[in-house]
Amino acid sequence: MKVIMLGAPGAGKGTRAALLSEKLSIPHISTGDIFRANIKNGTELGKLAQSYMDKGELVPDSLVCDLVVDRIQQPDCENGFILDGFPRTIPQAEALKEALDSIGEKLDHVINVYAPDEHIVNRMSGRRSCSQCGAVFHVEFAPSSKGDICDKCGGSLIQRDDDKPETVKKRLEVYYEQTYPLLEYYEKQGLVKTVDATGGVETALSDLLKAIGA
Ligand code: AMP
Repeated sequence: MKVIMLGAPGAGKGTRAALLSEKLSIPHISTGDIFRANIKNGTELGKLAQSYMDKGELVPDSLVCDLVVDRIQQPDCENGFILDGFPRTIPQAEALKEALDSIGEKLDHVINVYAPDEHIVNRMSGRRSCSQCGAVFHVEFAPSSKGDICDKCGGSLIQRDDDKPETVKKRLEVYYEQTYPLLEYYEKQGLVKTVDATGGVETALSDLLKAIGA
């Protein structure tokens, strides 16, 4: 099954993609995570991406599309994948379509993870990530049992530069300008199902399974 998670930054796409990935046993591919891993490893791609990410801007399509097209052709994607954070622009959606067309495949579902802006700002400003393993916590909704230490690996928890209030505002602007039009693009193809992301994670998996008719 080939699934895209759409939604504003901080709406909860990542958490939901991880739940669905585990349930369906297909890879969760997060372009944000791929860039963060490259930044951590000091790669050329990481250096290029970081300058955009820190400002809350999108990394240029030319740096993203080939990476994803290559990733979804890896053997572990044979039974499908969940894309989280890609596509984010119409040209990225076109590049994905072209890649899938070329192998006679198509998307099955586009899940729109929806939460109002106030909710998103609140969620992102409380988010903390482990500087070592990348695990994500929230000071209010999902705190680590060890305060500002990761209870999975013992690393220190930090606020990502792109979760800082001024960057969050910019990321939301960028979302409405460049990514929101994808909803209409996929709605025309009859692929979009919206899930409400304002509730807790308890009902998230059943909502997702309902959305994909599983
Ligand atoms: P995320 O963790 O998905 O919110 O992504 C963090 C940042 O990585 C974004 O704000 C962008 O700067 C960059 N990024 C992730 N995915 C993409 C994409 N598909 N296109 C462009 N930039 C991206």
